[in-house]
Amino acid sequence: MTDTPKHTYRDANGDLWFRESLSEGIGNGLRIDKLLYAEASDVQDLIVFENNENGRVLAIDGLVQVSMADEFIYHEMVSHVPLLSHGAVKRVLIVGGGDGGAMREMLKHKGVESITLVEIDPDVIEFSKKWFPDVSQGSFEDSRVNVVIADGSKYVEETTDTFDLILIDSSDPVGPSAVLFTREFYTACSKLLNEGGVIVTQSGLAAIHPEPVKSTSDSFKALFAHSGFYLICVPAFSGGFMALGFATNDGATFDRDIVTIRERFAALNIKTKYYSPEIHKGSFALPPYIAEKIA
Ligand code: SAM
Repeated sequence: MTDTPKHTYRDANGDLWFRESLSEGIGNGLRIDKLLYAEASDVQDLIVFENNENGRVLAIDGLVQVSMADEFIYHEMVSHVPLLSHGAVKRVLIVGGGDGGAMREMLKHKGVESITLVEIDPDVIEFSKKWFPDVSQGSFEDSRVNVVIADGSKYVEETTDTFDLILIDSSDPVGPSAVLFTREFYTACSKLLNEGGVIVTQSGLAAIHPEPVKSTSDSFKALFAHSGFYLICVPAFSGGFMALGFATNDGATFDRDIVTIRERFAALNIKTKYYSPEIHKGSFALPPYIAEKIA
């Protein structure tokens, strides 16, 4: 392991920093208080380090994917929002999600009978289990889970399986993830959804990178009767709000009432740190400046 891996630099004191380049003119630095792993796998660059404020951090191709200080925000919201909106999800497809965090949350729903996780890079799974065991918490070993190592864009073209929920838990639209933001890919996903099924996508930092949100919005409008975005704020993802896409042909699911959401959440009898029925409903309210970028 070199002492200044890709996407890192040393400051005047000789401290090692991870540099995340969010755009031409925006960068974010995290001091590397302990470098644990840094390798370029044959699919993507992976780095794991400890930062005193963020805890343990995973970055892929120079972009933060998981930080132990706040990973629960993203994983609770990509899971409980679609599952409690739909109310009867049995079969789940996750494309990406190699850290196992979304699976961890989804497995808390007893009605979920199977989760197929399609991950392109086995290295992410292996070292997520090793370095981030508290993210997956054994979810890979759950009897309801089936892990497929493949490119999600090929899997959705070839599978004959159907699903009630498809989560695109991808990295940002660079490298192997880029294909997961295309109309062709969403079209293939739409054909795999059962009646009333839901698709949820990681759609990036809406305020500073509105393009993927806009293109996903255009695709969803062409493919589904109801679609929109909900927002989360994850401190480790600098750049403001992250948008999560939500699309379905079922109007009631799309705009589930809060009384039903509260009843379903109470019946789950789980403790969450970010998700609540009120956050669920409120997260779909977009500030005008973001709504305008998507319109
Ligand atoms: N964004 C999540 C979060 O913020 O917590 C974590 C993202 S998860 C680590 C992203 C995963 O998508 C990675 O494991 C990466 O290997 C996987 N991936 C990227 N492109 C893919 C593709 N075309 N098919 C399947 N998996 C893919």
